[in-house]
Amino acid sequence: MSDAKIFNVGDTVYIASHGNEQEQKPCPVCFTKREVMLTLGDGTEIMLPCGYCSRGYEPPTGYVSEYVVGGRVTQVTIATVQVEIGKDGKAAGYSHTDNHWSKQVNTFATRDEAQVYADMLSAAYKVEQDTRAEYIKKDVYRSYSWNVGYHRREAKRDRESADRHDKLLVICKERSK
Ligand SMILES: [Zn+2]
Repeated sequence: MSDAKIFNVGDTVYIASHGNEQEQKPCPVCFTKREVMLTLGDGTEIMLPCGYCSRGYEPPTGYVSEYVVGGRVTQVTIATVQVEIGKDGKAAGYSHTDNHWSKQVNTFATRDEAQVYADMLSAAYKVEQDTRAEYIKKDVYRSYSWNVGYHRREAKRDRESADRHDKLLVICKERSK
């Protein structure tokens, strides 16, 4: 960092960003069917709405947004320079004439240098997003069986409670005779 070239006001520089954009892809859990079948341990099959391609309380759509690798380079002109001197040396922050800003680390003198860094950012961002998606998918699988277990338990409790109330009702009727 200490040997990084600090740019000046008025310099034309190239800014690297991950540039990844979201694209609609078929849901990797329900494959656009919007529902999934869960087979329980006793062989019972239950159809459930897909929880992976539904957002919050919205119904499932069968599609999910995924990041497509981009690696964007933007040419800008520096408007202001702010230099910070820390124990790792000098690091600058730049504001551009288009009102955006960049840090020293993603500001380059040439388009080629910026592109190399942008591609690196893009690949790293994709890995991060994919890893997150894998976690969510695992979580969804887990929540399906949890939900089935929960609803069965609740149904059983409600049935037992209904039975109890039916019996109490009979007793009441018997006594009122
Ligand atoms: Zn789905």
